Amino acid sequence: MKNLVLLGGGYGNMRIMSHILPNALPKDYSLTLVDRMPYHSLKPEFYELAAGTKSDKDIRMNFPDSPRINTVYGEITEIDLDDQIVSVGNTKIDYDELVIGLGCEDKYHNVPGAEEHTFSIQTLSKSRETFHHISELPNGAKVGIVGAGLSGIELASELRESRSDLDIYLYDRGERILPRFPEKLSRYIEKWFKKNDVTVVPNSNINRVEDGRIFNNDIPEDVDLVVWTAGIQPVDIVRNLPVDISKSGRVILNQYHQIPTYKNVYVVGDCAELPHAPSAQLAEAQGDQIADVMKLQWQGKPLPEKMSEIKIQGFLGSLGEKQGFAYIMDRTVTGRLASILKSGVLWLYKYHNG
Ligand SMILES: Cc1cc2nc3c(=O)[nH]c(=O)nc-3n(C[C@H](O)[C@H](O)[C@H](O)COP(=O)(O)OP(=O)(O)OC[C@H]3O[C@@H](n4cnc5c(N)ncnc54)[C@H](O)[C@@H]3O)c2cc1C
Repeated sequence: MKNLVLLGGGYGNMRIMSHILPNALPKDYSLTLVDRMPYHSLKPEFYELAAGTKSDKDIRMNFPDSPRINTVYGEITEIDLDDQIVSVGNTKIDYDELVIGLGCEDKYHNVPGAEEHTFSIQTLSKSRETFHHISELPNGAKVGIVGAGLSGIELASELRESRSDLDIYLYDRGERILPRFPEKLSRYIEKWFKKNDVTVVPNSNINRVEDGRIFNNDIPEDVDLVVWTAGIQPVDIVRNLPVDISKSGRVILNQYHQIPTYKNVYVVGDCAELPHAPSAQLAEAQGDQIADVMKLQWQGKPLPEKMSEIKIQGFLGSLGEKQGFAYIMDRTVTGRLASILKSGVLWLYKYHNG
């Protein structure tokens, strides 16, 4: 019996399982899924958990219910590519084929104190902890959110709707929010923040964090709680693999999404170096291609000479419960429609994944 092992039950590996189960996985293969969590976490919704607008149960789903899946729940501590063994603490798992889909963690850009004194929404456990600490803040407390990318924007707006009493500051490195996208989009988001009393601080450079203090361009400000949404990088176990790693810490792959020196190992999602910014949408599109490659190999068929280019539709973001923004196929969509689109995408995801 051969063993296909999937590391991480995130967006990429969920998509792969949806293609190969129940029938495409050959009869002489077993499938082992390893995750620290006993369920699939809806990472794009973590900001809602942290803000207190969604419950824990709303942002997780069961893994596929298939007799062909063996699950191992625990912390992956080592991936030995030469001996083909994954360690989950003292448990050793042999593999014949492996897919690494372990996602991302915060990147602190060497800012002193950032890791120690800020909260995170990168894992479910950390989002729960962030929620707990935000919930305990007294009336009028000041919350700083560092980084006005998609997750910082969504967290700031959601928190505003959850806690009207808090003083919320969103520190943005750019001149305007989402500077790589049309000005119309930035203006819409900034107007929402102004109307809803969230202070956006442009041209920020948070270069130090201490307990109860944040330094913006070296100028200290008192703050009760800080959430870091200013950058991501693949988890360290992947960044430290003895293979070619890009400047952003991602694994460099061949066109079939395999590690060139270990072709029985695929990397999916946020850990893979790809020509688009990491996203759940990208992890799923890549998961589609990995499943296709695996199926061809299992059937003894040749792989295509050239894999098709992965296309990304754009992105969707929410501003609280009823408003949103989107940039889809080079078009900007704002307001209620964008919010409905985002809810629809989430609903479809939950529907298709059971
Ligand atoms: C707040 C926020 C909002 C976002 N919004 C969007 C959005 O609107 N649209 C979009 O497309 N993307 C969005 N993203 C990005 C998206 O969530 C990720 O790109 C996507 O989840 C990556 O999928 P993945 O398969 O690489 O890994 P993940 O979905 O992150 O899954 C990784 C899995 O690995 C497990 N794991 C990690 N390390 C270990 C270990 N050592 N041992 C055991 N298990 C481990 C984790 O528990 C997890 O289940 C958002 C992200 C955040 C944080």
